[in-house]
Amino acid sequence: MRVYNFSAGPAALPESVLKEVQAELLDYQGTGCSIMEHSHRSKTFIDVAETAEKDLRELLNINDDYAVLFLQGGATGQFSFIPQNICTTDQNTDYIITGQWSKKAAAQAKAFVKVNVAADSAGTTFTSIPERSTWNLSDNAEYVHICSNETVHGVEFSETPDVGDKILIADMSSNILSRPFDISKYGIVYAGAQKNIGPAGLTIVIIRKDLMEREGQSISPVMHYKTMADAGSMSNTPPTFAWYVAGKVFKWIKANGGVDGMEKVNAAKSGLLYSTIDASNFYSNPVDVSARSRMNIPFTLAKPELDAQFLEEAGKAGLSNLKGHRSVGGMRASIYNPMTLEGVQSLVDFMLAFEKKHG
Ligand SMILES: *Cc1c(COP(=O)(O)O)cnc(C)c1O
Repeated sequence: MRVYNFSAGPAALPESVLKEVQAELLDYQGTGCSIMEHSHRSKTFIDVAETAEKDLRELLNINDDYAVLFLQGGATGQFSFIPQNICTTDQNTDYIITGQWSKKAAAQAKAFVKVNVAADSAGTTFTSIPERSTWNLSDNAEYVHICSNETVHGVEFSETPDVGDKILIADMSSNILSRPFDISKYGIVYAGAQKNIGPAGLTIVIIRKDLMEREGQSISPVMHYKTMADAGSMSNTPPTFAWYVAGKVFKWIKANGGVDGMEKVNAAKSGLLYSTIDASNFYSNPVDVSARSRMNIPFTLAKPELDAQFLEEAGKAGLSNLKGHRSVGGMRASIYNPMTLEGVQSLVDFMLAFEKKHG
């Protein structure tokens, strides 16, 4: 039996995608071997790679001004790749800190570039997004970095902040493809795949081509965006299997109304869960309503001594991986694109029954 999997990442994948992968696993389209066993330079894999890029471009309206890279190294790798690639060590950058991931991004960038923390919601234990008017942006920053959805704290930008003519860079690891955004407002968007794209091991970087021309710092040439783009993300062997599965997820999104279709379902799913939490005196979520994430929903029980029992009974009801992040405690339901409304309804039914019994 498959469970409703609320894991923050690696996370649930669409069941239909898993079935397709299963059906093709031993013999990919009559080639007599698995896609995992094909050379990344073979026509078979190049077709897979190019189709995935084409579909992603279509889903996010990415035009030719941008390169799309399929890399390794995780979103974490990008925390240092970005400043190394596009800045010299004496240049300034602005970071907006709204949770654990943007905090890590800023901390890592400090080794390679000057970092000004232009806004920081640590004072509210990351339960809000500082008003745009309070951001202390530097005049000469090369870019402004945000994390569009904080996976641990459940805080999400509901729209792209206006940073004037500054280059905006976003870590979209946990909400890419969950709602539309205008790529032309960004210089770089990056995302680890294991939340909303596919299996772990793949990192997607969407970068405005003029930024790839920057010399940056003296790093290994194969780690330079321009080199990687010129090589079609194949300066070294790319994560072929993850790339292939991601391509299937893109097809699945296209078949389900595209990013607009995802947004509708995500609004319904998160609305259902938040309204249940807000109507209850037993469950609570600390995040400002305007900054609440549609993807990661942390909540606590009025009786934390029941946490273990909640998780155990939820597990028995087929609801898995609801334990909150160690730094926040309580529970967290991660409800990325593949989580169905039915799955969230099932969680809500369980929560109401648990509250009735123990609340
Ligand atoms: C998971 C996550 C990361 C880290 O991703 P890795 O692929 O493990 O490096 C970074 N940023 C956000 C927002 C995340 O959710």
